[in-house]
Amino acid sequence: MAPIATDVQLILFDIDGTLMLPKGAGRASTKLAMLEIFKTAGGIDDHHFGGKTDWQTLLDLMQVEGFSSDDIQRLMPDYEAVVARHLSAIIPDYPIETCPGALDVVHEVRRREGLIPGIVTGNVSSTAPIKLRAAGFDPDWFVVGAYGSEAADRNHLPHLAVSRAEKLSGRRIPPEQVVVIGDTPADIACARALGGVAVAVSTGYTPREELAAAQPDYFLDDLTQFFGQVML
Ligand SMILES: [Mg+2]
Repeated sequence: MAPIATDVQLILFDIDGTLMLPKGAGRASTKLAMLEIFKTAGGIDDHHFGGKTDWQTLLDLMQVEGFSSDDIQRLMPDYEAVVARHLSAIIPDYPIETCPGALDVVHEVRRREGLIPGIVTGNVSSTAPIKLRAAGFDPDWFVVGAYGSEAADRNHLPHLAVSRAEKLSGRRIPPEQVVVIGDTPADIACARALGGVAVAVSTGYTPREELAAAQPDYFLDDLTQFFGQVML
């Protein structure tokens, strides 16, 4: 597919599997926080996180333990504080990896006038900056963000990020001028929910065939291919 012909205004990056690999630190801190807040971690050891919001993960694992969705919503601020404390404490012990090309792409997006870098992630808002920092990104490089503590359904998050970017920039940002980059079918689905351009990178844990079957607009091995294949 040819590079995007229209002016792109906003690029929304997923974190895990797209910018960096937390190498188990996410699961471990989630487990510790669940044990502290809910007194159980349910089936977390076998839980499939890929593309899910943390809110959805709590619904998946804690509703079967007897917590209602209202309980989970009410406990979210406590959960956010506790999981951030655990992640900060343990993340130095994990071999965090930065995905190939990720730092260069973010730097180039920041350098280009009229282009806004943002985050759309399933991580709660308190852990996203911890993961970014551990992988060498300054969270402040990303002008807007939408997080897995703001909606259980990832499909709601790109809209949130776009409206924040519009407010900050004072410009209207049509969906077709938004690029959503992620490593799972859920990232592609949330790009579609917005009407944006879906870019898949094969740097996470999703099997290539599964990612291709979700039919992204662009399918990259990694972010080193972003400038050249998606944007010139
Ligand atoms: Mg991901």
